Amino acid sequence: VESIEAKVRATITKHNMLNFSDKIAVAVSGGKDSISLLHILAKMECVRPKATLVAVTIDEGIKGYRDEALKIASLECQKLGVEHHVFSFKQLFGFALDELVEKKRREGDDKLTACAYCGILRRRALNVAAREVGANKIATAHTLDDEAQTVLMNIFRGDLSRLAKEKPVTDEVHPKLVQKVKPFCEIPEKESALYAYLKKVKFQASPCPYASEALRNDFRVMLNQMEEKHAGTKFTVFNSLERLRPCLQTMANTAHFGECQECGEPSSGGLCKVCELLKQLNEKKA
Ligand code: SF4
Repeated sequence: VESIEAKVRATITKHNMLNFSDKIAVAVSGGKDSISLLHILAKMECVRPKATLVAVTIDEGIKGYRDEALKIASLECQKLGVEHHVFSFKQLFGFALDELVEKKRREGDDKLTACAYCGILRRRALNVAAREVGANKIATAHTLDDEAQTVLMNIFRGDLSRLAKEKPVTDEVHPKLVQKVKPFCEIPEKESALYAYLKKVKFQASPCPYASEALRNDFRVMLNQMEEKHAGTKFTVFNSLERLRPCLQTMANTAHFGECQECGEPSSGGLCKVCELLKQLNEKKA
């Protein structure tokens, strides 16, 4: 427990993630990683009287899955005395993820997986939620495993711009964009799970029903197999990106954001990904 807490503190210092007067919105899904992060940050923030911690949970609308996670998240926040806010896809975008997936399946549209839609909408929802609660930082519980998977996925897709944007602290500049930090980026998922068990933290253990469809899952299996055979693989992948970053940044325009012509939210193109998605859905409806 001490070693994990020390490692998180060191990561926060190394990447200059937090300031003494930050209002931090912790993205709490109810899973082991986010609940562990909430516990560690709550402990750290006790000694920073000017900092505030708020928990935000995004309810994607996944029946039988998110309901349980929400209860757990709210219970853990109560235990720690952390204010908890829930924002749903339904309230923000007009439909739950289940409804969207059902509609796409009915139309025989299988271009994108549930996770691809979920990722686009959740990123937006989290930024809106953080703004609404007045936070100037969003802390997410992406672990070393998540980060290594993301690096490989972007390499396989040949998406250099996304690869360059993957950072422990985001630096895209826009007044409506809340800065994201990842204090667990050097913590292997196994250690975060161990922390939750040792601290007897309650968390949701059952996986999302859509998780098996995700491309990320295949990268998870592959990296776990590699790690088993060649210990340190995940760190090597994560650190490779740090070394590649200077070259990547000269190749991809990563820092400047405009606004979506439809909704006014930050966007790197004329129409943001969320509006593209909603337009597509409405066109099919018409
Ligand atoms: S597994 Fe996919 S659909 Fe489920 S919460 Fe995660 S990203 Fe969303």
